Amino acid sequence: MMGATTILTSILLASSIIFTGVNSEGLDIESVEQELQPLASKLATITGYSENEVLYQVFGELNFVLVEQANYGLTCWAWLKCYGNPDDLTDPLAHGLLIHELGHRFINGLHLGFKDLHMNNGYYDEWGNYIHVTGLDANGNYLRTNLGYPHGGRPYEQHGVLSDDYHTYGEDFADTFMNWALDQCTDDEAGRIRCGWMDTFVKEHVKHKPNFMPEKGAMKRYDYTNIARPE
Ligand SMILES: [Zn+2]
Repeated sequence: MMGATTILTSILLASSIIFTGVNSEGLDIESVEQELQPLASKLATITGYSENEVLYQVFGELNFVLVEQANYGLTCWAWLKCYGNPDDLTDPLAHGLLIHELGHRFINGLHLGFKDLHMNNGYYDEWGNYIHVTGLDANGNYLRTNLGYPHGGRPYEQHGVLSDDYHTYGEDFADTFMNWALDQCTDDEAGRIRCGWMDTFVKEHVKHKPNFMPEKGAMKRYDYTNIARPE
């Protein structure tokens, strides 16, 4: 009889060596850290927390788990469960996916309805036409655009135009949050409005370190935001 072999398969969460409270299972922890770095850096500047602890302060513990491995892309959900090919995390087209999910976490944690978000953004072009960037259309339905991004689709829209829920403020918020964190908005009116709105929103709603004084003027509402859509 062959010696009994005990295979101990213990699934351990690998912990980030950089960020407090960030763990992963089934995804390469270093890739996870790399993906989160730009967001940590941005939030640290805004909140006064160090880069190492700011994600934990803002989001609490974050466990990114690959639930099911497959050969198709990589899909993740706001509860940080992912499905698909873990190697896709380093695919340039998936760049920002984890930050997109944290965008969902951020807005979910605030328990704000759409009305409280004031996410109707647009501007008037040189001919006086209203250009809709984010928010409700004339019929009161949520209408997304890819204005303010270099182009539509990945990596700027992780929730693709063909997917269900594309035209929801939750997905628009998550993609805008991601592009804001990665400084990927275009240097034009639409890009400035989109990322400027998010910058103001995060600064107003993120938890700041006690006694931390934000940069002077940092809390100022962005000049272009919330131009009411004409009725
Ligand atoms: Zn999403």
